[in-house]
Amino acid sequence: MTVLAPEAVPARPPVPYRVAERTRETPDTSTIVLEPLRAALPPFSPGQFAMVYAFGVGDIPLSVSRIEETRFAHTVRTVGAVSGRIHRLETGATVGVRGPFGVGWDLSAAVGRDLLVVAGGLGLAPLRPLITAALADPRLYGRLNVLIGARSPGDLCYGAERERWRAAGAGVLTTVDRPDDTWRGDVGVVTGLLNRAAFDPGQAAAFLCGPEVMMRATARELVRRGAAPERIQLSLERTMHCGTGHCGHCQLGPLLLCRDGPVIDWTAAEPLLNVREL
Ligand SMILES: Cc1cc2nc3c(=O)[nH]c(=O)nc-3n(C[C@H](O)[C@H](O)[C@H](O)COP(=O)(O)OP(=O)(O)OC[C@H]3O[C@@H](n4cnc5c(N)ncnc54)[C@H](O)[C@@H]3O)c2cc1C
Repeated sequence: MTVLAPEAVPARPPVPYRVAERTRETPDTSTIVLEPLRAALPPFSPGQFAMVYAFGVGDIPLSVSRIEETRFAHTVRTVGAVSGRIHRLETGATVGVRGPFGVGWDLSAAVGRDLLVVAGGLGLAPLRPLITAALADPRLYGRLNVLIGARSPGDLCYGAERERWRAAGAGVLTTVDRPDDTWRGDVGVVTGLLNRAAFDPGQAAAFLCGPEVMMRATARELVRRGAAPERIQLSLERTMHCGTGHCGHCQLGPLLLCRDGPVIDWTAAEPLLNVREL
């Protein structure tokens, strides 16, 4: 299988990938595993994203939610035309993919430290390959805690995998805003789980993804508990089109988030997060 040189990727048209597997996570969210039809793109790192083109509809940025050798997965939630089309794709369908784009999670910053992963809703998707990587090499890190918040029990993804994370030694806590009659877990915002997670804020490395209000609240609470702002990483979403730092749609202050992000640390993010997207 041919692998394209990374510097050649941005100028190239989308590369065809086939939907090899499809899992319906919730009524409006699916995970698709993509495999190359011909040449594969260069490998993705956890936290990076691709521009995924649904032919005849358009392309959107999607984070990689699983990384294999030449295959990778996206978990997509329907919010509009393109995400809806990708959510409905059946096994065997073809999409066009450009990437890998952006700066992913810096897991090396967590070596020798407790890891705290905090996800809101579909924010768990870009964090999933980070959790997989940390569990693959547990001797490198301290305790791993994964705190997950969702709107309702029906919005929680990766049920079987969350059990595997627990079985592998991770502390996995979930909370929902709106419980149903069967829910036995926590209720309320994800920051409410911090008291129950076994980690040392003073030395931990934190990785956050979800709604900005949730990431702001979590980062501030971690700093209040003694966490170092530069060891809090978060993934930011802005409208993106080119993925290569040219069109400017994803500008946030001095940053072009498709190129300089989407993962940045709290020292860079805090002063920028009150800037609204145009
Ligand atoms: C780096 C990055 C990674 C992403 N990863 C994922 C992922 O793994 N899975 C996933 O489902 N989605 C992800 N998204 C969001 C996804 O790109 C948008 O949902 C998608 O672009 C919507 O396109 P659409 O044509 O379906 O809907 P549109 O018609 O474009 O939009 C429908 C509605 O969604 C809102 N919307 C559009 N884009 C965004 C956005 N980026 N953030 C918040 N609201 C938005 C619009 O304002 C509108 O209200 C990511 C976005 C970025 C920037």
